[in-house]
Amino acid sequence: MPPTADASHALPNDDAPLLELRDVTRRYTLPRETLWQSAPVVHALAGVSLALQTGRNLGVVGESGSGKSTLARIAMALEPPTSGQVLFQGSDLNQLGSAELRDARRDFQMVFQDPYGSLDPRQRVGRIVTEPLFDASAAQRRERAGTMLDAVGLRASDADKYPHEFSGGQRQRIAIARALITMPKLIVADEPVSALDVSVQAQVLNLLQDLQDQFGVTYLLISHDLAVVDHVCDEVIVMYAGRVVEQGTSDLLFRAAAHPYTQALLAAAEQTRVDAAAPARRCTGIATADTVGATDIGANACAFAPRCRYRQDRCDTERPRLRALDSRHWAACHFAEQIMFQSPSKGDTP
Ligand code: ADP
Ligand code: MG
Repeated sequence: MPPTADASHALPNDDAPLLELRDVTRRYTLPRETLWQSAPVVHALAGVSLALQTGRNLGVVGESGSGKSTLARIAMALEPPTSGQVLFQGSDLNQLGSAELRDARRDFQMVFQDPYGSLDPRQRVGRIVTEPLFDASAAQRRERAGTMLDAVGLRASDADKYPHEFSGGQRQRIAIARALITMPKLIVADEPVSALDVSVQAQVLNLLQDLQDQFGVTYLLISHDLAVVDHVCDEVIVMYAGRVVEQGTSDLLFRAAAHPYTQALLAAAEQTRVDAAAPARRCTGIATADTVGATDIGANACAFAPRCRYRQDRCDTERPRLRALDSRHWAACHFAEQIMFQSPSKGDTP
């Protein structure tokens, strides 16, 4: 995966990425609270670049509010960025006309978190699954729905049923069948297993991997759960407050995290596992319910500084840029090299 810094085009990789984001920003203007205040602005994405290569699944992790879903919607051209470019196989999606975009959409599809809300309860499953096949005949739809339902572990006869007749895990299989029906090259899955029972999560993740082998699709998989990303992804980016703070191969990132935020996420995940084994212990660490206040970032400060156990004066005045630690690993921290070899002390809130 090329770095997300400006040097991304200098990498010796001749293949055009399947998906590329170039310095993408997304601002939302919120309603004013009072007449004499200016409208508050949320920087949901504050300059994100990434490149996803065919066959190399990319995971996006970060806590609630870090910009993951905004990234997904912009990558899928469901909304335009405020600035920056989204390129799919080299073509800028926001420059396409509506007919061209509709054609391009066959190559990238999305799976959402909520398998209840994302399927129309009034439509039969066969209709839902074949919805992206705009110009197919009834006979073609029936045949394709049967094939695809079979591929995701359901039965062809399920096409005649309604979504409420299925469990959460089965509904997510239906959503995956719908995403696959156009034989896309890329599927963006935003928290695809978060709403499912833990016992069902692994089945759905294994299914995604089987389908990758069978259909050659590549995933951009968003999850707040590091284990989910570790299971499926070759590359990972870690987002904090609308920025990429660390990026690398899953092996490097999960085994030698170089950003204090990534270390804290890993420590919190580890703590959750310990707590699950011994529920009486209190869960500590960073993965609390507080969302990232993307509105109150100082112009030049590191956004993570207020929560960072390694904070120095420099962090308040000089925002660290994403920089290469080696050829497969980037981090946005002034002290990445020093802290990479320090394991976070468990239970210590950064
Ligand atoms: P995540 O998926 O990581 O939880 P989101 O992309 O949903 O993060 O949100 C990032 C930030 O942008 C949050 O502060 C969120 O409140 C804000 N945001 C997202 N979508 C909108 C919107 N349509 N209008 C206003 N603010 C939004
Ligand atoms: Mg989200």
